[in-house]
Amino acid sequence: MSQIRKNFIARDEEFTCEKCGGNVTPLGRGCRNHCPTCLYSKHVDHEVPGDRASQCGGLMKPVRLEKGSRKGYLGFDVVHYCKKCGKEIKNMLAEDDDFEELINRQ
Ligand SMILES: [Zn+2]
Ligand SMILES: [Zn+2]
Repeated sequence: MSQIRKNFIARDEEFTCEKCGGNVTPLGRGCRNHCPTCLYSKHVDHEVPGDRASQCGGLMKPVRLEKGSRKGYLGFDVVHYCKKCGKEIKNMLAEDDDFEELINRQ
């Protein structure tokens, strides 16, 4: 079951990463929407995280970390850029994400 909050729909599903082929297991809490290994995501949300309303389906590349106001790990959000349509979407960073490369790029 999905949990509906103000502007956030929590989805925590297992999926296969389309970038590295890794099997991504659910986080157990919150919303798992990107691969912890390569940090790639998929463009499936349109207006709010978890709505799954986008028809795009493009691969989303992690471009940078932003100090966010939400509850991402260490207060960071990861910004994904869709390689297909160019949209940028912020997602919460998870504690098992391999984010060092992104931090080093800041
Ligand atoms: Zn991956
Ligand atoms: Zn897109």
